[in-house]
Amino acid sequence: MQSPKNKIELVQMPPQNTNSVVVFNGANCIVFDPWGRAGDWKKYFSEHNVTPIAIYATHGHPDHISAAAELAEHFDIDWHMSHLDMDLIDWGNGLLDYFGLPKLSHDNRAPIDISSDCRKMIFSDTEMQIISLPGHTRGGVGYYLPDAGVFIVGDTLFQDSYGRTDFPGGDEQILFQSISKIYDMKLPDTTVVIHGHGHHTTIGWLKQNNRFFHK
Ligand SMILES: [Zn+2]
Repeated sequence: MQSPKNKIELVQMPPQNTNSVVVFNGANCIVFDPWGRAGDWKKYFSEHNVTPIAIYATHGHPDHISAAAELAEHFDIDWHMSHLDMDLIDWGNGLLDYFGLPKLSHDNRAPIDISSDCRKMIFSDTEMQIISLPGHTRGGVGYYLPDAGVFIVGDTLFQDSYGRTDFPGGDEQILFQSISKIYDMKLPDTTVVIHGHGHHTTIGWLKQNNRFFHK
């Protein structure tokens, strides 16, 4: 994916299938949902000749944040996640253990809280809208990049389905409200939607093919 200002790359780090997203801007980049091992990410950055300047998580499940704190400490940068999901850090360590990844601890660098809708400049020329999307977790958020026409929705919505709500903090009714909220944003049909897992879609494709995507 490419916008006039930014190249955007989907990355699937081993050992699972989470869609991490890297948005490039010259020699810098921003990373969304850095799953996997921090060491693999360091290698990725050096191969791409790029330095991460911030990290954003769509929610606090371990398969979206496993490398976040270590990378934030290593590069001395901020990582961002809703503090409503802080209790999921301990909860998720079982899964990290299962995959042989280092556990996260509250001694690691804490995320900057992002629980409400707002806009911010992620590069000097690139705006991002943070959209609160609870339901899959209490603190779920999406990231809309209007210039690139890309919306990173985490596990709120998938190609043909929606995120599970049986983990702590999940609530199906609230999730459906978040899906309606995305619908009500009336984004262009060409907007690329990047899901937390699986193939990316567009708003227009979802309207036609995902029966859960409606008002
Ligand atoms: Zn999740």
